[in-house]
Amino acid sequence: MEIEFQNRKKSCKQCLMHSGIEGIIIDENGLCNQCKSHKAFNPHGEKHLIAILEKAKNNPSAYNALVPLSGGKDSTYVLYLAVKKYGLKVLVYSYDNGFMSQMAKDNIQNALKECGSDHIWVKHDAEMLRKLYRTTLVNSGEICGVCGVGIERSMLKLTEAYKIPIILLGHSPTEANSFSKENIYDPNRLKSILKTNPKIEKDEIKRFFVYPELNFITSFLYTKTGKFGRKINLLYYPENPSDKEISKIIKKEMGWKEPEQYEYTRHFDCKAEPFTNYIREKRIGSSRRLPQLCNMIRNNEISREEALKIYETDSKKVDLTDYDSILNDLKIDKEELKKIEKIPLYVFNENLSKANKIFARVRKLLKAN
Ligand SMILES: [Zn+2]
Repeated sequence: MEIEFQNRKKSCKQCLMHSGIEGIIIDENGLCNQCKSHKAFNPHGEKHLIAILEKAKNNPSAYNALVPLSGGKDSTYVLYLAVKKYGLKVLVYSYDNGFMSQMAKDNIQNALKECGSDHIWVKHDAEMLRKLYRTTLVNSGEICGVCGVGIERSMLKLTEAYKIPIILLGHSPTEANSFSKENIYDPNRLKSILKTNPKIEKDEIKRFFVYPELNFITSFLYTKTGKFGRKINLLYYPENPSDKEISKIIKKEMGWKEPEQYEYTRHFDCKAEPFTNYIREKRIGSSRRLPQLCNMIRNNEISREEALKIYETDSKKVDLTDYDSILNDLKIDKEELKKIEKIPLYVFNENLSKANKIFARVRKLLKAN
């Protein structure tokens, strides 16, 4: 009885977080630590954004800004704002991670037509990418780090090549807390995972990382000195309309479409997203969707009941056979999948880059005070 009681998950009374999730503590009043520390999203202010954009417009470059476009909701909305609201001359670019859905590709084409913008595709050799994904999945339980680094490095390269002063990112404030704490984008950690596979050649590492020796400090300095464009989280500045209103705007203005039957996949632009969420449920106890829904509850966008309904309905729709194409693509069999599900958290964290370790220590100190 005692053991059974201890194993039972305690749920937060406000959101959907529970004690089975890494890092979640429910207090005696039934509130989780994330709800307790949650502060309502406070936009930086549109006037600060306009000042940044005006400065970019005065830059002699042919383009005022680089906009990474995945065909998903947030990046499409950012492109809409950049071109149609703020009148910027933008270069749009898309990173084909090998898992882009057809709908995302159609959305990209439609948006480009609406905006009349120049566009560049970045696509690494499919066989090489598969090798990188497979190696990180089998050894660390994650594949998103590869895609994240691929996007980041290619966008820095484009800003350097075209001398573009700013990069307008589509991170949404509702996605806070939804990313893994495993430092999956740390270049040193990623390299050490990839090194476990002798079939990955040095030349491939060079091609993939674009700047093989870049670290957080040099990246910061290159941005300060203007070699790289400065990253701007555009959606953190103005008051944003609700998710539903954003959909409406971009459907009308950008020819944007979204899948009707699934609410689960906010990131329907990536066919691998449901699979990565499945693995996260197994390894961490939570997909990326759950924290997003919890943020929406905390921001009074939906009620706890509504969020729970969405989560349960979507969970029922998830079927392991849905992942077959991805498992086949990466040549993962059922045995291997079981092993991946059991990979502990924070593997390879001893290989974090020095700068990242220092940041972590400073953050800890600041929190303690
Ligand atoms: Zn909570």
